[in-house]
Parts: sequence; C-alpha cells; structure tokens
Amino acid sequence: AERAPAALSVRDLRVGFGGVRAVDGLSFDLAPGLATGLIGPNGAGKSTALKLIAGAIRPQGGQVLVDGADVAGWPAHRVARLGLIRTFQHTSEFGKLTVLENLLTAAPRQPGDSAAGALLGPRHARRRQQELLAQAWALLVDFGLTAHADSYAGQLSGGQRRLVEIMRSLMAQPRILLLDEPMAGVNPTLRLTIEEHLKRLRDGGLTMLMIEHELGSVERVCDSVIVMAQGKLLATGTMAELRANQEVVSAYLAG
Ligand code: ADP
Ligand code: MG
Repeated sequence: AERAPAALSVRDLRVGFGGVRAVDGLSFDLAPGLATGLIGPNGAGKSTALKLIAGAIRPQGGQVLVDGADVAGWPAHRVARLGLIRTFQHTSEFGKLTVLENLLTAAPRQPGDSAAGALLGPRHARRRQQELLAQAWALLVDFGLTAHADSYAGQLSGGQRRLVEIMRSLMAQPRILLLDEPMAGVNPTLRLTIEEHLKRLRDGGLTMLMIEHELGSVERVCDSVIVMAQGKLLATGTMAELRANQEVVSAYLAG
C-alpha cells in the first residue's frame, strides 16, 4: 500500500548551545493521524527538537516541512497558525484563573481580535467570544470537567491540571500536537486517564508527537516511536521492536 504523505517532515535539523550540539542532524517523518513517541536519555535533545519544530527557538540548519512549506525559523505564532501547537507549560496565572478562564485565555489571537476586530465592531467581538465559550464548553464535556469549570486551576489535582494544560493547547485547534512529558509527576491511575484522552484525540484524527519517559504510556498511546540520543535519531519502530534492538537497549532502555 502507498503511504500517506507525512504530516510533518524534519530534515537535518540542528542547533547548538555553546559547545553542546543539542540537536545534531535530526531527520524523521510524522505519519498523519497517528501518535508518535519521542524517547531517549536525559539530554538527548528531545525538548530542544520540539522547541525547534514549534518555532520557540531558531534552528541553525535543516528544514521543518509542513504542507510543502519549510517553517524552520518561523516565529511560533506563525507556526501555530498552520496548526502546529506545543503544549503550554504552566503560566504564572494558571492557578489563579478558573478552568474556564484558563481555556478562554488560551486561544490564539485571530486577525479579527485586534485592529481589524475593532473595525468589525462589537458584534463581531461578541460572536467571537461566543465561539470561544462554545469551544471551551465542548472541551469541558469531552474531558469530563464541566463540574470544575469555575474551580480555580490551582485547586485541581495534579492529573486534572495536566488535562487542563492539554485542553488549553486544544483551544488553538491544532492539526499537530507536540507534547513534552504530559505524564511527568502524575500518579499511575491518573496517567491511565490522560492516556485515554490522548488515544481519543488520536482516534479523532489528531497527529501527535509525544516526549514521554513512561514507556508503558508510550507503548499504549503511540503507534510508533522515535529514539534520540546525543541530538541524533538512533532508531524508529514500535516499542516491541525497540525493546528487541540491542543498540537502543544499551543506549537507553538498559539504563
Ligand atoms: P532532553 O529533553 O532530551 O532531556 P534537551 O533538549 O532539554 O534534552 O537538552 C539537550 C542538550 O542541550 C542538553 O545537553 C542540555 O543541557 C542542552 N540545552 C538545552 N537547552 C539549552 C539552553 N537553552 N542553553 C544551553 N544548553 C541547553
Ligand atoms: Mg526534555
């Protein structure tokens, strides 16, 4: 069977910090509508790779191809407009806002929100606000958090806060979601809940690239897995294939 074109292709991506080659000639393809895991030892360059793809830092070389465009070096807001979204870390306000407020303030600004919006008038602004509210409420329903709409995010459990972070990134209506350790610090029971939501999103057609140290979660959520070591791609495959790969075992899995 012919393979569908990649949702995202990374080609020979590189960036260094001082003498450290954090990402050193990285290339891989993301299959559309699937979840891909990104694993590897601490310092392998996983988070840096995600930041490069999302436009949070500029690469010193290489390409990030989406829809035939090379978005390498584009600022994050332009990359986001193409639907490439990295999960937000906690903002300083996160805990002081309610869950609903966190969602409403997460949506990226649209052309109509600024000068053009002022020209279009208050009716346009009200309609946009209503759309955002409907979108936020639909997410609260999907994630089973309607009862917490008016709870302060700071009062939620660690696992629920993680869900709200994921929901915040979904307010941007991503086509490709980039997650950096969504299960870190979450207890095993809540981890399963987060996994169920990620699988539901994947089954809905969302393409995902997920850095995660919990390999059980990677195995259950991800269709295929990329292993990085020292800024480079070491191997790709299913978790089962990688566990049988001696190079991967000695570089990462054995540790
Ligand atoms: P991982 O997410 O796989 O643990 P990182 O991408 O965070 O790895 O880091 C890769 C390497 O780049 C590490 O050696 C790290 O210390 C270094 N590094 C990452 N970000 C910076 C930075 N902003 N300044 C200097 N060095 C950095
Ligand atoms: Mg990291």
